[in-house]
Amino acid sequence: MTGSSEARRRLAAVVADFRAALEAESEAGVEWLAWEETRRPVPAPRAAPDRSAKERALAAVATEVAACTACKLCDGRTNTVPGEGSPDAAVMFVGEGPGEQEDLSGRPFVGRAGQLLRRMITEELGLDPSAVFIANIVKCRPPENRAPEADEAAACIPFLRRQVAAVRPRVIVTLGNPSTQSLLQTKEGITRLRGKPVRRGGFTFLPTYHPSYLLRNPPAEPDGRADFRVVKALLSER
Ligand code: SF4
Repeated sequence: MTGSSEARRRLAAVVADFRAALEAESEAGVEWLAWEETRRPVPAPRAAPDRSAKERALAAVATEVAACTACKLCDGRTNTVPGEGSPDAAVMFVGEGPGEQEDLSGRPFVGRAGQLLRRMITEELGLDPSAVFIANIVKCRPPENRAPEADEAAACIPFLRRQVAAVRPRVIVTLGNPSTQSLLQTKEGITRLRGKPVRRGGFTFLPTYHPSYLLRNPPAEPDGRADFRVVKALLSER
């Protein structure tokens, strides 16, 4: 193959991937995740993209996140934390943002809260943690572990939209108030929302407590585990 035909082949592959990502996002009904809920009916999904297309879409997000300076959180980060997990995950967990350990390692939920999350995934869902996808609303650590501000979340959420469009999880578990309120566009607190599935935009959401809260409030852990059993029941639905 000549140099120019190889370049054309690569360009065609990039264009095809980009078009597939746009179609996947549209068909997956994730438009509303851009902080402005649309009321359009969600078209029935066509055949899911194959695993390698999903991997490429997720890798592209991680690459763009690594170079992103779209909000002020880029100033204090050590590493970006795009999220990780199976491209074929049936469940996606979404927290609010990376903490100190995550910032240092570039991986989501690696501290004590992450250990509890992974234990609950194993014990309540019966899944290996590598079979799910774990991400956050913002991909850079907010200072002092504060919740992301509205402008930061708005700047970062397109990356999450693309991850959702690539993975197409059957259930999106929102962890804690900031994640739940951002994704469901509500001011209701997690105590009222937890454990109740919300079907929106072609996806099923299940709000629950953030595992950090469960570490600070051990009596709430049984409720958190009960929520995970709701997720398990949702996954068993046809
Ligand atoms: Fe970019 Fe998101 Fe990091 Fe802000 S938090 S700099 S939008 S990757």
